[in-house]
Amino acid sequence: MNQFDHRPLGSTGIHVSAIGLGTVKLGRNQGVKYPSAFELPSDAAAQALLETARECGITLIDTAPAYGLSEERLGKLLGAGAHDWVICSKTGEEYINGSSHFDFSAAHTRASVERSLKRLQRDWLDLVLVHSDGNDVDIIENSGAFEALGKLKQEGSIRAFGMSTKTVAGGILAARESDCVMVTYNPGHIEEQAVIDECLKLNKGVLLKKALASGHLNSEDADPVQTCLDFAYAHAGVTSAIIGTINPQHLRDNIAKAKKALT
Ligand code: NAP
Repeated sequence: MNQFDHRPLGSTGIHVSAIGLGTVKLGRNQGVKYPSAFELPSDAAAQALLETARECGITLIDTAPAYGLSEERLGKLLGAGAHDWVICSKTGEEYINGSSHFDFSAAHTRASVERSLKRLQRDWLDLVLVHSDGNDVDIIENSGAFEALGKLKQEGSIRAFGMSTKTVAGGILAARESDCVMVTYNPGHIEEQAVIDECLKLNKGVLLKKALASGHLNSEDADPVQTCLDFAYAHAGVTSAIIGTINPQHLRDNIAKAKKALT
């Protein structure tokens, strides 16, 4: 497990790199909570970022319908090469005219996955996560989203599914009922560690969001990125940290520091 580029995603049979490229910043710059405002990168800059990621051993990309143009841009930029990547997308949250809307029904879940397949120009998606609004347990037990994703998996449209959760109870339930959980985990947010413990016990995949605290790094730390990455991989249950960057130098630094943390 302690390698960079071929880590088992729980028991799915899918292997991913220890860092995944988070792509909020490729598609959306409104209603986000980063330390500073930014322009969406040009197609050329985004293409170069994807190439740098690939050259440095990243095989996993994280996107979502709620990330504005992210899925559509990735589909165009990756084109015929889209199947060379492990792509994780989501369902349940839509970002429309500046605000989030949620629909976890079975019908929306299926329509959302079908739209993601078209936008991403893929015949199947490797992983689809329910993009929670915070009511994790209720969504899992009552919405029909997991049932719809289970059916899409049986049909071969997706290889695995899970949930990006916001609560410990929801994360633990998602670990029991699906293939993979995405949790917030960094030195300033350790509450969801119990979810990672459960995933480790059950051999389920764990993706981290906000591993670098969405860029709100500790200014008193000489190397806060190394501190965050050492912290992330110290838990044996962590499969991959999804880090969002549009800065190629940050991307290279993060990969070098992840490799150091893993040795
Ligand atoms: P993050 O990865 O912790 O932080 C990203 C921020 O850190 C960006 O503003 C980035 O700016 C900055 N950064 C990256 N590397 C850096 C470095 N070496 N030095 C200094 N700053 C650095 O948090 P996130 O973007 O909120 O989350 C990561 C990904 O997780 C997202 O892209 C998305 O794919 C996923 N996510 C999912 C959910 C969900 O509910 N499912 C929620 C949030 C996020 P630069 O661009 O300048 O590098």
